[in-house]
Amino acid sequence: MNMLIMGAPGAGKGTFSRLLREELNLNHISTGDIFRENISKGTPLGLEAKSYTEQGKLVPDSVTNKMVKDYLENLTDKKNGYLLDGYPRTIDQAKAFEEMTKGTDLAVDTVLVMDVPFEELTRRITGRRSCPKCGEIYNIYSNPPKVEGVCDHDGTALTQRKDDNEESLKTRLDEYSKNTEPVIGYYDEKGLVSHVDALGDKDEIWTRIKKVLNI
Ligand SMILES: [Zn+2]
Repeated sequence: MNMLIMGAPGAGKGTFSRLLREELNLNHISTGDIFRENISKGTPLGLEAKSYTEQGKLVPDSVTNKMVKDYLENLTDKKNGYLLDGYPRTIDQAKAFEEMTKGTDLAVDTVLVMDVPFEELTRRITGRRSCPKCGEIYNIYSNPPKVEGVCDHDGTALTQRKDDNEESLKTRLDEYSKNTEPVIGYYDEKGLVSHVDALGDKDEIWTRIKKVLNI
């Protein structure tokens, strides 16, 4: 299965990507990981991407597209398929990706969309706190620590990521509506999209995902 996982920030893509990868033995990679790998290895594409990010500029689609393609072409176990998280993020990237993979064993066959109302995403993201010592993640609304503000395991003061505030989330959700929702529409027209209701507890959502994907 060659799958894309899509959904707004906070929709649970990371959690369910891990489960899908284990269940289906897929090559799972996020574009963030591909970027970091290219940059740390100093590949020509990595150096090019770095030259943009160092100037505070967005990496152009042409560079991102090429990195993803290189990654997929160099997989040692292509037959297992892949799960891409964070790509394509725009219609231009989606079209370029289709051009690159059309008629090959890298063509997308499934797009899983995690649906969560924006109000719920606000609670999930602005309520998120983590322990800087052990990495445990809490949510002050849905999964609070036993004692307010400190980690259950080691009593360390919990911290909030700088961009987990309402204003920054609004920017990210606007970007998602403007750029990524049209990508979902693009794949929908091709009949590749499966939506899953991503509200509820992890087991419930996982059961729904397995059902919509027939796995
Ligand atoms: Zn801790």
